[in-house]
Amino acid sequence: MSGELRWAVTDGPAGTAAVALPDDGMAAHVLGLDHGRGFWCSREAGGCGSRLVLEARDGARPHFRHPADGRCALNGSDAGPAYEQLRHRRAMGAWLAAQGFRPRLEEVPGSGGLHVVVAEASSALVVQLSSLPDTAWRERDDRYRRRVRHVTWFYGPEAGSAGDTELAVRGVAYAVRRHNTGLLVGVRDVAGGTRWVRLGACRLTADGFEAPGAAEARALHARRAADRQQAARRAARCAERAAQGPRDHPRAEAPPLLPFPA
Ligand SMILES: [Zn+2]
Repeated sequence: MSGELRWAVTDGPAGTAAVALPDDGMAAHVLGLDHGRGFWCSREAGGCGSRLVLEARDGARPHFRHPADGRCALNGSDAGPAYEQLRHRRAMGAWLAAQGFRPRLEEVPGSGGLHVVVAEASSALVVQLSSLPDTAWRERDDRYRRRVRHVTWFYGPEAGSAGDTELAVRGVAYAVRRHNTGLLVGVRDVAGGTRWVRLGACRLTADGFEAPGAAEARALHARRAADRQQAARRAARCAERAAQGPRDHPRAEAPPLLPFPA
């Protein structure tokens, strides 16, 4: 049943340590033992904060159950994206905290992602998990750039086409995937390559987000742009000559035949 709640947090009513239930009842049962302290419906994911009961009976798909008198706005189908976002937020927050930053989380209603501002580095980090039309990407990117010097987007699997747009404009774009409790960043280049690195291998500095392979991706983009420009200049020169016609430029023609032996 899609309405069944399969997500919870293990660190209190407003927790961010999210867990998803496995399909297998036995595995879910083991998870229950591992988190003996309890499960909550996180207010940070839009839930009610109440304690949840893990139902993992034989034969049935395991799920979390609210207390009998509980009323909650978060239903099973909305919970997935909300908790997925929470997981990204926790990993991103830990990575920034490890570098001594104090990130501020900004809610962007309906954006389908996460918007973190690091004022000390004049940076915004945007994790986009749901798909985003091209025009909306441009509008939001412009808006963020008016407020901070550096804006770094991380695109989840569903937001890949917005990533394509940024890749074409800037020569590098970052994909993001969850990996256990951490995040992997995919550094994409204009040749179609993606280099996956741990978020922990990346840094945020006053010059913006730095990831292994990003400089190479930008250099490739710059080389291709220069090649295109050169090709365009060549084509323009050819067109110009063709338009002027051969009579105006005798030197460009084959050398005139010499008179018969002088
Ligand atoms: Zn709830």
